[in-house]
Amino acid sequence: MMNDVECPYCGKGSEINHDDGYGYEEDEIYEQECGNCENIFIFTTSISFYYEVQKAACKNGGEHDYQKTHTFPPEAARMQCTVCQEKEGYRR
Ligand SMILES: [Zn+2]
Ligand SMILES: [Zn+2]
Repeated sequence: MMNDVECPYCGKGSEINHDDGYGYEEDEIYEQECGNCENIFIFTTSISFYYEVQKAACKNGGEHDYQKTHTFPPEAARMQCTVCQEKEGYRR
């Protein structure tokens, strides 16, 4: 779990409780009780983004790698590029 923290008192791992969207605001101080030692600790949230990049030859003058989509019903399937997800027929 990416929300796991270590209790500053007893060192036991806790999962941050995000019920009702609690604890998602950056630069706010939140508090939670350790489920193990029952001390209250405070925490701040920092949201980090994760990006994954890959080459897309079809966006650089290459051919799109069109494959049929797994749409149901099959008659509605379109050809879609597996690399950039562009549907055949659309050109941006
Ligand atoms: Zn604790
Ligand atoms: Zn493509």
